[in-house]
Amino acid sequence: MSIRSHERLVIENDLHRALDQQEFQLFYQPRVDPRTGTIQCSEALLRWKHPKLGMIPPDKFIPIAEESGLIVPLGAWVLHEACRQNKAWQDAGYAPMRVAVNVSAKQFGRGLTDSVAQALKESGLAPDWLEIEITESVLTDNENTVIASLRKLKSMGVHLAIDDFGTGYSNLAFLMKFEVDTLKIDRSFIQNIHRNIEHQLITTSVISLAHNLGMRVVTEGVETIEEHQFLLKYEPNEAQGYYYARPASALAYEKDNLNKQAH
Ligand code: C2E
Ligand code: CA
Ligand code: CA
Ligand code: CA
Repeated sequence: MSIRSHERLVIENDLHRALDQQEFQLFYQPRVDPRTGTIQCSEALLRWKHPKLGMIPPDKFIPIAEESGLIVPLGAWVLHEACRQNKAWQDAGYAPMRVAVNVSAKQFGRGLTDSVAQALKESGLAPDWLEIEITESVLTDNENTVIASLRKLKSMGVHLAIDDFGTGYSNLAFLMKFEVDTLKIDRSFIQNIHRNIEHQLITTSVISLAHNLGMRVVTEGVETIEEHQFLLKYEPNEAQGYYYARPASALAYEKDNLNKQAH
């Protein structure tokens, strides 16, 4: 058996216990105002600290968790932990910022809105501080369930963001229907943007259209000072990427990112 498929088997077997064994952890990466560097939002990114394999990135186990249905309790845990942590930071006196949580298409119609309501209630976090990030693909399958869930989330006061925008098949008019607050432009358009005229045209058009429709824009995957400086003139509301900060554990995030801000 190849190392790859062996690893996949280990992951499949161990995933079931991992939630009970408290092997999951949330890392955080800031979404900043690129003009000032002020943190606007912290995106929660799931990690699995496997006792033998070490830190496993989400791309390796989320698809497996989706197939097995584990994504439902795991997703509920993520919501709970992200809300708890953000409220703890607010209570500790840090300047309030939103927390963004990624949810999978598989969570829709399977208790997502109840999980959100419960996470908010148990943590005491006001709904305005929570943003749910979904990909365009969520909007294209199972339309009625998804629309009902998104309406419910909006009516609760939770914000909605479209992740990886530009990689799927939706368009901005379609997004209007869902009352999306924030558009995150996929990093494939941002990479080397200062040298790619096509990406410049797409990014600037998407930003101005999104702004005209009243949405906020986040440019994702900013890695270099050249990309950062180039993007400034497009005035995205927020930017995110290794140039500003890499994802880090809650402790490291607090120490290296939150402590730099006035509080
Ligand atoms: P995403 O939501 O698009 O998150 C951004 C990913 O890009 C993260 O990878 C982040 O570490 C990485 N990234 C951030 N800045 C840069 C940059 O400047 N350059 C490059 N090359 N990469 C950057 P990560 O943490 O491995 O997460 C991968 C994906 O896994 C996420 O993509 C998201 O779709 C999914 N994911 C993460 N956490 C969760 C979760 O709690 N639930 C669900 N359902 N999915 C999650
Ligand atoms: Ca995301
Ligand atoms: Ca993304
Ligand atoms: Ca992604």
